[in-house]
Amino acid sequence: MIDLRSDTVTRPTPAMRQAMFEAEVGDDVYQEDPTVNRLEQRAAEITGKEAAIFLPTGTMGNTIGIKLLTEHGQEVVADSRSHLLDWELSMLAWFSGCLIRAVPTEDGILTWDAIQSVVKPVGPHWAPTGVIELENTHNMAGGRIYPQAVIDEICEEAHARGVGVHMDGARLFNAAEGSGTPVARIVRDVDTVTFCLSKALGAPVGSMLAGPKPLMDKARLYRKRLGGGMRQAGILAAAGLIALENGPEWLARDHSNARYIEARLAEIPGIVPFQVETNIVIFDVSGTRHTPKAISAALKERGVLMNFVNDKLMRAVTHRDVNTNECGAAMDALAEICNG
Ligand SMILES: *Cc1c(COP(=O)(O)O)cnc(C)c1O
Repeated sequence: MIDLRSDTVTRPTPAMRQAMFEAEVGDDVYQEDPTVNRLEQRAAEITGKEAAIFLPTGTMGNTIGIKLLTEHGQEVVADSRSHLLDWELSMLAWFSGCLIRAVPTEDGILTWDAIQSVVKPVGPHWAPTGVIELENTHNMAGGRIYPQAVIDEICEEAHARGVGVHMDGARLFNAAEGSGTPVARIVRDVDTVTFCLSKALGAPVGSMLAGPKPLMDKARLYRKRLGGGMRQAGILAAAGLIALENGPEWLARDHSNARYIEARLAEIPGIVPFQVETNIVIFDVSGTRHTPKAISAALKERGVLMNFVNDKLMRAVTHRDVNTNECGAAMDALAEICNG
């Protein structure tokens, strides 16, 4: 099967399995797992933050990041197609007692101009804004990268008003690769940032949350409450360390495969791809005679796994475990279905 459903499907490399086998471990709830401690230290160094914490998932990273920067009854400003709004089971309502103020955007990218009228102080009739959430890269807008100047301006304006900024950087390293900007520079002014080791970086499990030391100390308590206090987690962190050190090198190839898919899609009558910047290709199939659901099923019969987003859009995600030839074969199958 050629699996283009997500970059979460990557399998651990032989080097990861070896490192997991040999990992030095301890009880991480006592902070005595040397491998987890090393991973957290490396993640802090790479993001340029004081501290970082190893988490089972990116959803937990967003959940804790929002919790750290808000009080019950506040609003979280986010793009209307954000992962936080659509794919995280309302955790910010359930755990943090907040509402999302969803702001529609053309391309998933919030700007200060677009959000300044909804960023509110305490008042007699409205909920104050606790945090602004930026999704970088933006998944449902097709892997779009935040321009650095936009991040910097939002952080400056937010902080001037006592509002926090959390970055959902599930694919932060794709943003760094695609923009040529070091990770630490991208997140320099955000308060907290989460990123996934388990996506294109290739680890089997795990995400990181990074930020100031006092917040990360609190994050440990929230992680425990959420059932994420793992014990000999060094087994997982060992693979995470390799993902962190070697994973970024794999991303350029994923991005060129995504651009290749974009070019092949543009040749199929009735298909319109979104602009590709990283490893996600979203495309509109409403000009073909087929529904996304039917195309997805027909692709599966031909050995290709690809998800549909809604009744118009489909999504292909490139990652380490698909090469250019396989992307080509997937596009051949898609062309055959759409032209047939
Ligand atoms: C995948 C993803 C997450 C976190 O997902 P988990 O499956 O919980 O690790 C968060 N934000 C975005 C944009 C994602 O794509």
